[in-house]
Amino acid sequence: MADTRRAATQPRLTLDTPVTYLKGVGPARALALAKLGVIFARDLLYHVPHRYEDASTVSRIADLEAGMDGTVVGRVVSKGVIPTRKGLRIFQAVVKDATGMLEVSWPGQPFLDRTIAKGDVLLLTGTVRFFHGRQLHPREFVNLGAEEEGTGGGRVLSVYPATEGLSFKQIRALVESHLDALLPQVRELLPPDLLALAGVPPLPEALRMVHRPTSIAEALEGRSRLAFEELLCVHILHRRANALARDDRHGIAFVNRRELTSALKGALPFELTGAQTRALRDIVADMTGGRRMHRLLQGDVGSGKTVVALFASLLAMENGWQAAVMAPTELLAEQHHRTFSRLLEPLGIRPVLITGRLGARERREAAEVIGRPAPALAVGTHALVQAATGFARLGFVAIDEQHRFGVEQRKALGAKGEAPDVLLMSATPIPRSLALTLYGDLDVSILDEKPPGRRPITSALRPESARERVLQFLDREIEKGRQAYVVYPLIDESEKTDLKAATVAFEELAAGPLAHRRLGLLHGRLPAEQKDAVMRAFRDGELDVLVATTVIEVGIDVANATMMLIEHPERFGLSQLHQLRGRVGRGGEQSYCVLLGDVGQEAAERLQIFVDTEDGFEIARADLRLRGMGDLFGERQSGEPTFRIADPLRDEELNLAAREGAERLLDRDPELMKPESQGIRQVLGTRYARSIELFRVG
Ligand code: ADP
Ligand code: MG
Repeated sequence: MADTRRAATQPRLTLDTPVTYLKGVGPARALALAKLGVIFARDLLYHVPHRYEDASTVSRIADLEAGMDGTVVGRVVSKGVIPTRKGLRIFQAVVKDATGMLEVSWPGQPFLDRTIAKGDVLLLTGTVRFFHGRQLHPREFVNLGAEEEGTGGGRVLSVYPATEGLSFKQIRALVESHLDALLPQVRELLPPDLLALAGVPPLPEALRMVHRPTSIAEALEGRSRLAFEELLCVHILHRRANALARDDRHGIAFVNRRELTSALKGALPFELTGAQTRALRDIVADMTGGRRMHRLLQGDVGSGKTVVALFASLLAMENGWQAAVMAPTELLAEQHHRTFSRLLEPLGIRPVLITGRLGARERREAAEVIGRPAPALAVGTHALVQAATGFARLGFVAIDEQHRFGVEQRKALGAKGEAPDVLLMSATPIPRSLALTLYGDLDVSILDEKPPGRRPITSALRPESARERVLQFLDREIEKGRQAYVVYPLIDESEKTDLKAATVAFEELAAGPLAHRRLGLLHGRLPAEQKDAVMRAFRDGELDVLVATTVIEVGIDVANATMMLIEHPERFGLSQLHQLRGRVGRGGEQSYCVLLGDVGQEAAERLQIFVDTEDGFEIARADLRLRGMGDLFGERQSGEPTFRIADPLRDEELNLAAREGAERLLDRDPELMKPESQGIRQVLGTRYARSIELFRVG
């Protein structure tokens, strides 16, 4: 019934036509397309290739020689699965082009026999070997199907994200057959000056380029237009949300009295680094301004962020306000508390500690201190958030290792009191453009300089066979009076097997190679008092070796420790390893970080990046590239923008252009009410249906 009506009326194909009405789409395909998010014809245009095969560099089969890397296009003339003596099954095919034949071999992939048919044309890339003649082991291949003409010189093949029941070839055919009808209906929605700013082509042209490129470069150019749109939307929303938030809330305008801060400067056992001074200048400017501070302080492990937070706290306090410094773990909070107590002693200031572990009496005392409308400094864990309602005059909040907290937790503390200024601190130096994308209009200061006198740490990756030698080396360090860490991966404290592995290894070390040394075991499952006791013993030099799980990752500061031995290094992210390495090299002695274990080729390559550099920024970049944002930041953070096409890291230039573009657009038209903004409104509406509400007001 529906079919006859459709045939009879021949509805014109528009961007809003449901794909079910497209020629070549039956109910099964429509379902598969829906899985890919393709519901309307418009979505098909935005379903862009994730990969391209460049057939413009295709070699003639006759020209292939053993040892060379090549791409060929050939038709399958015979094929089959061959068992080997060792039980491995190999799928083999012989392909032919106008110049000759070539044997192609896929060891261990007999299942290809089901998807590759005789007569199919294959595009193959790989190294040519000599094996009873020339043979190609494809690194990659694309089945172009039976209809495909032989070698189309200069062609770029679009490879689409596919799904079960719908191959990329079928998608390509579908796009190909409707592209000419759809493209002329596409209008550019962004103002021309923004396109010019980013240097990207207009939308219709860009869509043509991504679907039907004449070269890879052209495909990338088209892609940049779509990526720009995504990034621009995110920046517009961030900016708008921020503008609304700022209008809502004025901050405290502190006065730079230079009373407590100068006193601290005089009492410090060291001079501030240039980078610390610059960051403090930024912070003072923010805090003395009328708007709330919302600043991220980035600095590699050991760059001295803590003392910067202390100066900012004192600025608040000398104005009669209270300050809170929040850390992600009890250990770290206690350490900050100790550090602050020591540094502030000459000033006669006693910071209070607020953690979940306080006894009733301590809790009452702390509550009393912060409940008085008088200057105070509180250091603690997320317990501060619950306590925050008790602050009489909270004016400044610092959040250390801020990426360890969820978005909500970070916001919660800042939301207490009367709009305290907020300083976020992170030792995972994320690229500036990414920070901007993740945190919108957050201001950023970077400590790109380490305190003087630090020696480079010698790092190495060693195989299992070197274990004895490595342990001897560690033993010699202890002989010299130094201390060492031995770290086991335990990402999730509930992982019983990991815990067991660490415990067993501890017992083995204690009974064997390090029997004559004083060893301590530290993991998150230990009762609190025991954990403290072990940490304290290590800090006070009563233990030579601290065998630990990842709980020591952040913060621990023991200058006499010079050796970090990491087991199963392949299970750590590079940034995490960098954090661990930051536990040594804190005194004047030469320090070492050894990754021990037999890791695979791929892991070894990854770990080598870590071994080769001590630049946390570079490491974080590599980590991001290899493992993606989600991993770097632990659980996915809510409110984090998601991108289908853009990659804020790789598209750094584009991202900066998008930021500037958003700024320009909103400066001219804050409510997006002008005619030129209607296009972007429409884009925001389809892309971020809920966020557009930010603009409905006014
Ligand atoms: P991170 O940035 O990793 O949090 P910390 O704040 O823990 O680093 O500082 C690391 C160590 O460097 C601490 O022992 C601290 O006292 C010391 N430190 C900080 N600033 C300086 C400086 N300007 N000169 C010398 N040592 C410093
Ligand atoms: Mg720190």
